[in-house]
Amino acid sequence: MSLSLSADSPAVPDDADDGVWLECIECGETFAPFDDVRYTCDECDGLLEVRYADLPTLEDFDGQGQGVWRYADALPLESGVSIQEGATPLYEVPRLEESVGVEALRIKHEGMNPTGSFKDRGMTVGTAVARELGVGRLACASTGNTSAALAAYGTRGDMETLVLLPAGKVAAGKVAQASLHGARILEVDGNFDACLDIVQDLAARGEAYLLNSLNPFRLEGQKTIGLEILEAFQADYGTFPDRIVLPVGNAGNTSALYKAFRELVQAGSLEPEEVPKLTGVQAEGAAPMVEAIENGADEVRRWDEVETRATAIRIGNPVNAPKALPGIRETGGTAIAVSDEEITDAQRDLAREGIGVEPASAASVAGLRKLRAEGIVDDDERVACLTTGHLLKDPDAAAAAGAEPEPVPADTEGVLEHLQN
Ligand SMILES: *Cc1c(COP(=O)(O)O)cnc(C)c1O
Ligand SMILES: [Zn+2]
Repeated sequence: MSLSLSADSPAVPDDADDGVWLECIECGETFAPFDDVRYTCDECDGLLEVRYADLPTLEDFDGQGQGVWRYADALPLESGVSIQEGATPLYEVPRLEESVGVEALRIKHEGMNPTGSFKDRGMTVGTAVARELGVGRLACASTGNTSAALAAYGTRGDMETLVLLPAGKVAAGKVAQASLHGARILEVDGNFDACLDIVQDLAARGEAYLLNSLNPFRLEGQKTIGLEILEAFQADYGTFPDRIVLPVGNAGNTSALYKAFRELVQAGSLEPEEVPKLTGVQAEGAAPMVEAIENGADEVRRWDEVETRATAIRIGNPVNAPKALPGIRETGGTAIAVSDEEITDAQRDLAREGIGVEPASAASVAGLRKLRAEGIVDDDERVACLTTGHLLKDPDAAAAAGAEPEPVPADTEGVLEHLQN
């Protein structure tokens, strides 16, 4: 199987461009990477992956370039449209580590990217490929963060941007970003999955270049999250993490991290048994991936009705499931659903450590706590939790989770009196 951890390096097809090509994960058909616009396989409509003739080892990432572009050897282009994305902190959280009860817990805070989410890592590559293809207009469907990143990277790359958002279901900070960075914003009377259906139609009709995570080039940039985590664990503990826990929406990150690890196995930098267990967390109201993992299903069943406070993962039809399900299974990981209350509790736990995240991000920590309580995660594990977006993305959720401001009179005596109560 092409997505197995132990797959051999592929033969280089004639349509490769400088050792880079696209390959269908279902039927194996190959395509030139930058000649035509294409998101899925012409033959069978399967998902595409970027493939490389030469795969770098960890030692090959030797300090050329910054952030995401330090890993250019593992990317389809040498450089991109950059706003200094990547190189995010991997925080220690001693109190949380102790209360969850694992050997080591670190928080990879992707909210520290330029537009406040990991989407920037994908966009820096995706918009560069768009320029290479010579397209004029970029588009995405979004629960918010993709639109913010697309707007910023699109305008920086001098391209027009169009975003389709589910009306009333996008956090305030994200709409504000897309708006100020100059995207044309269409509010759709439907959920995220409906937005994606429409934008895929627009892309198929040549109206715009699609930069959702269905786009295989975006996932290349997101691989660097996994590479940074492995390097940091190796430096700090002399070993790779046992497990990486992450929120799952369209399962782009799950797919990207798995691809990063498969490529390192092929390059000889990682033994298959050293690959971290990929562990996905969804909200109970939007958990089709969890359902598929629990049922041992080969395919994910689309949920038409989805609801959760964690709007970034309010997704019923995870497009990258065919890439992500093998990733969770082959690494010995699992998937779990958490309630909105558990998500908000975890958001508060992180905030107490000084780490501000939006609700979807806290799902990773909520999921880890639950898996630890159920004994599925052992107490001797070293774990990295991914927090995907910044607290300020969703100020309303943050304010609702925090304490109420207290009104006081405009004099010191009055303030002192209030503090004594
Ligand atoms: C996009 C997003 C997700 C979902 O990521 P996938 O790669 O689609 O699974 C999770 N959290 C936040 C904050 C996001 O913006
Ligand atoms: Zn195919």
